[in-house]
Amino acid sequence: MSAQDVLVLAEIRGETLDAVTLELLAAARGLVSATGGNVGVIVLGRDGAGHASSMGAADRIIVFDDPQLSTYAPETYVAALGELLAAERPRALLIGATSIGWDVAPLVAARLDAPLVIGCIRIMDGEGDLRVTASFYGGKMLAECRVTGAPAILMVQPGSFRPASEPGKAEIEIRTLAAPLQPGAIAFEQWILPQAGDVDITQHDVLVAIGRGIQQKDNVELAESLAQALGGAVCASRPVVDQGWLPATRQVGKSGMTVKPKLYFALGISGAPEHQEGMKGADLVIAVNTDPKAPIFDVAHYGAELDILDLLPALTEAIEAKRG
Ligand SMILES: Cc1cc2nc3c(=O)[nH]c(=O)nc-3n(C[C@H](O)[C@H](O)[C@H](O)COP(=O)(O)OP(=O)(O)OC[C@H]3O[C@@H](n4cnc5c(N)ncnc54)[C@H](O)[C@@H]3O)c2cc1C
Repeated sequence: MSAQDVLVLAEIRGETLDAVTLELLAAARGLVSATGGNVGVIVLGRDGAGHASSMGAADRIIVFDDPQLSTYAPETYVAALGELLAAERPRALLIGATSIGWDVAPLVAARLDAPLVIGCIRIMDGEGDLRVTASFYGGKMLAECRVTGAPAILMVQPGSFRPASEPGKAEIEIRTLAAPLQPGAIAFEQWILPQAGDVDITQHDVLVAIGRGIQQKDNVELAESLAQALGGAVCASRPVVDQGWLPATRQVGKSGMTVKPKLYFALGISGAPEHQEGMKGADLVIAVNTDPKAPIFDVAHYGAELDILDLLPALTEAIEAKRG
């Protein structure tokens, strides 16, 4: 272990490796490429072998296969992470800004008296220090932080880094804790999963996003037809979900999902900061709005001042005709 090493906390729910873990690995890889350290990924409560090939961007997979860690509980997670970090003193621990991350990162930082930065969207080496850009107030404000202490606990905004997907052969290290973990005051009861059969918008390369400009529920099917023609899925801004026109699992933004598709069609969406927070990492944004001053045009690569109710059927028909 060197002082340049970076650790990442893996999130595995059920049998699924959360995509944020691969984003954290990409961030860690980027950081150590400047300094020569290693990347380790920490797997709590399972053997790690099942996901080893997906986490190929790591050099080491550090496994605590303790039954007390098999489901998430803050006290046991913090005890395990605290002990590991105190022993290894890495340069940084990267944790996703997920429900678990928000719970655990401040507790680990407090336990180790270590610096904590939340909302990290960029992490770089600054000749000895860490230079971190953090996003606040729904992306309205950015803070440039210089972090000097180690280990730095960095809570990374999902969707800020392109997932590291390279295959690899990380070494698996099985570790045990100095003393057996005791159950804490907070016990896990159950996962509450999204409605079965719904679409996971974070996994689609093409998203047709609709906002209040869609005007009524019946028009949602115009967007569904375009999404089908493009091989994508429909997602929405918050008012569409609040009206009950689409389920909450389709909402993009601060209080919804963070998405990073190859193509994000923003149709009748004004582009409020809370919406932009969830989609500005898309590779290509095409915005259509009747208002030329809509802020969505500030983050769009291409834009058109058009009525989406005219555009949607015509575009779907044109794409279908082209595809035969
Ligand atoms: C704490 C908090 C969290 C929030 N979280 C989220 C979130 O996760 N996601 C989110 O989206 N919002 C969120 N919001 C709400 C956010 O502030 C905006 O109110 C919301 O994003 C606006 O949605 P919209 O763009 O669909 O609607 P509007 O702002 O009403 O915009 C509708 C747009 O459609 C255009 N339009 C109308 N008719 C047409 C037409 N026929 N053709 C083309 N264009 C047309 C209009 O010109 C307008 O630009 C949050 C707010 C708060 C305070």
